[in-house]
Amino acid sequence: MLKTIRKKTEEKESLVLSTIRENQPISRTKLKGLTGIRLATITDVVKRLKQDGLIIEQGREESLRGRKQSLLRINGERYFALGLEFDAEKIIVLLINLNSQIKKIGKTEIGEDKREESITERIASAASSLCEGIPREKLLGLGIADPGVVDSEKGISLFSSLIPNWENVPLGRILNERLKIPVKLIGAPKAKVMAEFRLGAGKGINDLLFIEFGPGIACGIISEGRLLRGHNEMAGELGHTHVSDNGTICACGSYGCLEAITAVPAIVKKIKESIKAGSESLIKNSEDEQITAVEIFQAAKHGDKLCLNILSKAAHYLGLGIANAVNLFNPEMVIFDQRMGIGGDFFLEEIKQVIKRQALRFATGSLKFAVSPLGEKGGPLGAATLILDEFFQSGGRM
Ligand SMILES: [Zn+2]
Repeated sequence: MLKTIRKKTEEKESLVLSTIRENQPISRTKLKGLTGIRLATITDVVKRLKQDGLIIEQGREESLRGRKQSLLRINGERYFALGLEFDAEKIIVLLINLNSQIKKIGKTEIGEDKREESITERIASAASSLCEGIPREKLLGLGIADPGVVDSEKGISLFSSLIPNWENVPLGRILNERLKIPVKLIGAPKAKVMAEFRLGAGKGINDLLFIEFGPGIACGIISEGRLLRGHNEMAGELGHTHVSDNGTICACGSYGCLEAITAVPAIVKKIKESIKAGSESLIKNSEDEQITAVEIFQAAKHGDKLCLNILSKAAHYLGLGIANAVNLFNPEMVIFDQRMGIGGDFFLEEIKQVIKRQALRFATGSLKFAVSPLGEKGGPLGAATLILDEFFQSGGRM
């Protein structure tokens, strides 16, 4: 019985706190209207949350008659959360407050040494140097946006096709021992769609698809207001859906995967091969020289026929893959990775046309498109948001 009462109190606290978070600044009367909880209970809950320093009263409601009510807000600086994203090239880590405002951000290049212990050491030192000077008791935890497959229960980074020999890395335990705060792992595309849903282009939209495009391809899915994880975190592997019978081998061991045909390394490979075979291009290529996505998109923008041709084919396949996802999940909005827009509109326009042609017209009739405004901050921001969400869901209890 006591347990049930405590659970009910926690549920109410969680609901009040989340409602303030999403509607701040807000008066007690409005809180009552939105939550359906009695005013006397709201007053009690607010008192507890104020005592804990989680909310503050700031300003008064504009009203024409009657007593002006004071407004409640989340006390942003009460606690902080860390978010981090890594891949084979770089680490981005940031610190946000309870209002999801970025307080600090840092970027580290991984360099030539891609050994597991060297990357984990860099991740740990990037995170610990960012939260230097902040008392541990003010840190709710660290969320990690992982480039590959994770076991989020055990905090293990299981596998990444982007980092050589990266398997079964107990990142959660390593970082927890180092930082002495809770650590949570999530796949990067899932973190990114969460960030867009809470703070980016998809704010307030309950059915979203985020398309990740770079060294790999994947998607993050919000369905009916919830992040879709799948049975064991494998939902959203858009890059390994089959789109062609041309036999291109994929890093996953299969062939004809979307990623093997259209991700940046595949595009670069095709351009190198074509130049070697004698095609004219603005891009100068030598065997050992690296070609970047930016160079390719820039060349296409300047009318380079080879780059235009190869990008247009990639756009075609990307469009087909995304159209399949649109038919499966019926999103209200598709958000493209910022990296897909670096060459201007033509690439995205071509993808949109294929989606509209290929997906069911009933699914595309009111479909919206956007380019991520968050860019490379999306991954770490979404991972940190995960920590905040858990804290708010628990009614603000550590
Ligand atoms: Zn594959």
